[in-house]
This record gives sequence, C-alpha cells and structure tokens, in this order.
Amino acid sequence: MQKKYIPLVAVFLAALLVLAAHLGARATPARTVFSFAEEKRIYLTFDDGPSTVVTGRILDTLQRENVKATFFIVSDRAHGREETLRRIVREGHTVGVHSATHDYSSIYASDKALLADVEECATLIRRVTGVVPHVYRFPGGGTKDYARQAALLAARGYTVVRWNAVCGDEELRGASAARLTEESLRTAGEKSNVVLLLHDSAPHKATAEALPNIIARFRERGYTFCAF
Ligand SMILES: [Zn+2]
Repeated sequence: MQKKYIPLVAVFLAALLVLAAHLGARATPARTVFSFAEEKRIYLTFDDGPSTVVTGRILDTLQRENVKATFFIVSDRAHGREETLRRIVREGHTVGVHSATHDYSSIYASDKALLADVEECATLIRRVTGVVPHVYRFPGGGTKDYARQAALLAARGYTVVRWNAVCGDEELRGASAARLTEESLRTAGEKSNVVLLLHDSAPHKATAEALPNIIARFRERGYTFCAF
C-alpha cells in the first residue's frame, strides 16, 4: 500500500468502528423491549394499614427478601404510627392513598366528599414522609360511579390501581397462611401481570405469616416483584 493511502484507510476503519458501535447500541434496547414483553410481574399491594405488628412483620419480610411493594394507607390509622409510615418510604416502598377514614358512607356521599377524603390522606402522607403520593385505590374497590370518579382522580394526578388477584384475607375470613398462599396462586392463574390484593391492618396476622411463602412461590414461577 502506498504511504499516502494510510490516513485514508485509517479514517475508513474508524468510520466502520463507529458504525458497528452505533448498530450495537441500537440492538440492545430492541432486545430489552423483547424481554420486557416476556417478563412476568407481580405487584404486592397492601391495603388498610398501617398497623403496628402486622405492617412491621410485613416490612421485615420484604426487607429480608429484597422485595418492593405498595401500601395504600388509611391516614386515620397512621396517628401514633408515623414511624411505621416513614419506614415504608425509607425502605423503598410506594405509599399510596386509600382513605382518611375507610368509612364508605361518608367517603362516597358525594364527589366532593371523596376528594376531601383523598386530600386528607394525601396531606398526612406528605406531612409525615415528605412524599407526594401518586397512586390511589378506591376503598372497597369503588362504586357504580367508578369511571367518573376515577377520571376525577386522574385529573388530580393519581393513577388508580385496581387488583386482579387476591390472597383471600378479606374474602376467606379466618383462613390459614397456607390457604392464603394457595388462594393468591389460584386467583393469579396464568396472568403475566399480577396485582395482588393483601391487607396489613391489625387483624391480618395470617397475611404476614403467609408472605414469605407467597413470595417464594411466585418467584419459583418466574415473577419479578414491582412497586407502583
Ligand atoms: Zn380498604
């Protein structure tokens, strides 16, 4: 090769390298999108807390298993349990609005009453944790006015979160931890995106007891744990 062509060849090779790197970088997100579509996800959602013992035990398990979850709280139950609420946030979980009172007749008396209830709960979350909540769950799953009220909440910046599987801690009163685990798996079925309803209010000791097995069984089935 003549000496005068060497710089030209070098430029050509450098351009090839840049092109290869560019194509490589483009290929990576394409693969990520593909695996994202295949991924099985489960969102553990805990309603009606915080409570002293049950929420504490649930947080211990989540910490041990390195799993993040979402807690839809009742702000009237947070008085005297501010530290539990701060622990939820400190350990990387999501805190959402459920209600101030969980009293259906007052919450659903009117749209105005619903929005006041949401704002009271959100204010407490902001004051105690510094977090501005962005997710909401209707107490009791909502009413016949669900669609209109969900739109009102969406306009205020909330993502309304429903569920598509239950552990049965409300439906099967007094069920054992083993039964709650089986009910979680049964209602989740073959769904690739599971939003599992659990409760961390005071009566639900069996839920806290079931949680390690619930996590283990969904892990065996290839699910990734996510929070909203
Ligand atoms: Zn509830």
